[in-house]
Amino acid sequence: MGAHGDISGLDCGFERKLAGAIDKRVQRFLVALGLAIFAWSFVVLIHVQSSATATLIPKPHPLPPSLAHWQDATKSGDYFSQVRPTEVGYLVWSQFPVRVYIEESEADSGVTVAQRWVRAVLEAVQEWAVYVPLEVVEQQEKADINILRSAPPLRASPTRNIPRVRSAETRYELYISNTSTTTGVLSHYCTILLSPSQTSQYVKAAARHEIGHALGIWGHSPVASDALYFSQVRNPPSISPRDINTLKRVYEQPTRLGWPLRREQGELREQGDKESRRSWRAWM
Ligand SMILES: [Zn+2]
Repeated sequence: MGAHGDISGLDCGFERKLAGAIDKRVQRFLVALGLAIFAWSFVVLIHVQSSATATLIPKPHPLPPSLAHWQDATKSGDYFSQVRPTEVGYLVWSQFPVRVYIEESEADSGVTVAQRWVRAVLEAVQEWAVYVPLEVVEQQEKADINILRSAPPLRASPTRNIPRVRSAETRYELYISNTSTTTGVLSHYCTILLSPSQTSQYVKAAARHEIGHALGIWGHSPVASDALYFSQVRNPPSISPRDINTLKRVYEQPTRLGWPLRREQGELREQGDKESRRSWRAWM
C-alpha cells in the first residue's frame, strides 16, 4: 500500500512540475490553436453541407411510354400553371410501375360496403393506369401510394379559422431510400385518406381526384369538367384530356426526386432524413 502511495505521489508531483514549466504564452497559444481547429471544422461542415445541396440540381426523368405517346387530338389545353412544385421539385415518379396499396375491408364494418369501397377505388386506379403504369400490391410497406379507408383529419384553412370538413386528402412524405446505390436516392411516398362514409360514385370520384394529386398534379383545375377540379360536383367528371395534358407537362419538369444524393455526407444523410420527416411533408 505504502509503495503504491509513494509512486502515485511521485506521479502527481511530476505532472505539477511539468505544468509549471509551461510558459503562460505557450498556454495561450495552445488555446488559440484549439479554437482555430474548432472553427476550421465548422467551415468544413458548412462546405460539405452546401456542396451537398448544390449537387442536388433538379433534372427531368424520361416519361413513361404511355404518357410520352399521349397526344391530345382535341387540343383542349391544360392547367399546368396551377400546379406547384414542392421543395424538391415536381412530384413525379420515376420508377414504374408505381405500387399502389388499397386498404382491405375490416370484417366489422359491413363487408359489402367495404367491398364496394375497394371496388370503386380499384376502378379509379385502373383509369389512371392507362397513362401511368400502376400496380396494385398486397403489402402496405411495399407501396408508393397508400390508399386508406379513413376520414381525413380536420385541418384549419389558411384563410379561415373554421376547420374544413373534407372527405379525402392526399399527402406526401420524403425519405432517402436505401437502394442498391451507396448514396441513397431522394424518394417520396403518398398517403391518400378516403372517407368510408360516401356512396360508391363519390368514393370513385374522390379516389380519381386524389390519385391525380398522388401522381404529381399538385394543384387544382379551375374547370368543373376536369377530375382535378377543386370542388366536388354533382356529376363527377372522368379523367379529361386536360388532366392528362397537365400530367404530361408535370412529368417533363425537373425534380430532385428519384436522383441519387452525393456520397460525401454519411452523417448529413441521417440529419437530412430526420429533417425531411419534420418539414418535407404536405397535404392537399
Ligand atoms: Zn384536391
